[in-house]
Amino acid sequence: MSAKLIKGKEIAAQIRQEISQKVQDLKAKKGVVPGLVTILVGEDPASESYVRAKQKTSHDLGFHSIQENRPADIAEEELLQLVRKYNKDDTIHGILVQLPLPKHINETKILYTIDPDKDVDGFHPVNVGRMVIGEPAYLPCTPYGIQQMLLRSGVQTEGAEVTIIGRSNIVGKPIANILLQKADGANATVTICHTRTKNLAEHARRADILIVAAGRAKAVTADMVKPGAVVIDVGVNEVGRTDEGKRILVGDVDFDAVKEVASAITPVPGGVGPMTITMLMLNTLQAAQRAAG
Ligand code: NAP
Repeated sequence: MSAKLIKGKEIAAQIRQEISQKVQDLKAKKGVVPGLVTILVGEDPASESYVRAKQKTSHDLGFHSIQENRPADIAEEELLQLVRKYNKDDTIHGILVQLPLPKHINETKILYTIDPDKDVDGFHPVNVGRMVIGEPAYLPCTPYGIQQMLLRSGVQTEGAEVTIIGRSNIVGKPIANILLQKADGANATVTICHTRTKNLAEHARRADILIVAAGRAKAVTADMVKPGAVVIDVGVNEVGRTDEGKRILVGDVDFDAVKEVASAITPVPGGVGPMTITMLMLNTLQAAQRAAG
C-alpha cells in the first residue's frame, strides 16, 4: 500500500484564493484593507527568509503590508514602543513579531504587549485561554493549518484516537487543544507524548491520526504506525546540503517506510509548512473583518 499524499501546498493555494476573494469583498463593501505589520529584529537568515515569505504572501493577497526591521541591539523599550504604536494604528489589524528575539529582550513581555485583537500569531495568553475554553480566538498558525488540512482532506477527527508527539507551545499543546474541542473538525480523543513518555511506540501505534512535532529526523518509524493511520509530519530537519548549497530538509517521519503503512501522509517539504503562512493571512483577514464590524 502506498499512502495518499496530503498536499499542503495545494490546500494552502486554495485557501489563499478564498482569502483573496474575501479581501476584495471587504474592500468593496466596507472600504477596509487588511493590514499586517511584520517586525524583524536582527539579521538571522532563517528569520529573514520567513519574514520575506510572509511579506510576499501578504502583498500578493492585496493586504496593506508593512515591514519593520530593527538592529539586533535594539533596546527592549524601543521595541515595546514600536508594538504599542501599531496597537493604536487603525490601518493595521495584525502584528507579527518574528521569533526568536535576541537574548537581552524579554520575548514574553513583547508578546504580551501585542493587543490580543491584533495577535494574529495566536500566542498571547488571552488567545490561548480563549482557544482552550473553545471561544472564538486567533488560533496559532501551524496547528490551525493542520486542522484545515485534516478537514479539507476529508479525514474524520470525531471519535478518532489522535496521538501527538511533542508538547511545545506553538505546535503540540495547541493542536491537542484544538482537536479535543466539542466542535466540527475536532471531537477527538487526544494523547500528548514527549521525551518523558513511557512506551512512545505503543501510544503512536494506537493512533488513527498521528501528529509528529518532535524536531528529530526519523523519530517515527514504520513499526510505530497503525496500518491505515493518517500521519501529519510537522518536523523540519536539515540533514545536509546539495552540491549547489541548498538545504536538504526532511520531516520527523521515516517517510519512505511509513507511506507503505499509512493511508495518508503529509510530505516534507510541501506538507504542513505552506499552511502556516496561509493561516497567518486568514487570521489577519479575520481581524480586519472583526474591526470592520
Ligand atoms: P520543540 O519546541 O523543540 O518541541 C519538541 C517537542 O518534541 C518537545 O515537547 C519534546 O519533548 C518532544 N520530543 C523531542 N524528541 C522526542 C522524542 N524522541 N520522543 C518524544 N518526544 C520528543 O519543537 P517545535 O517548535 O514544536 O517544532 C517541532 C518541529 O516542527 C521542528 O522540526 C520545527 O522545525 C517544526 N515546525 C514546523 C513548522 C511548519 O510550519 N512546518 C512550524 C513549527 C515547527 P520535551 O518537551 O520533553 O523536551
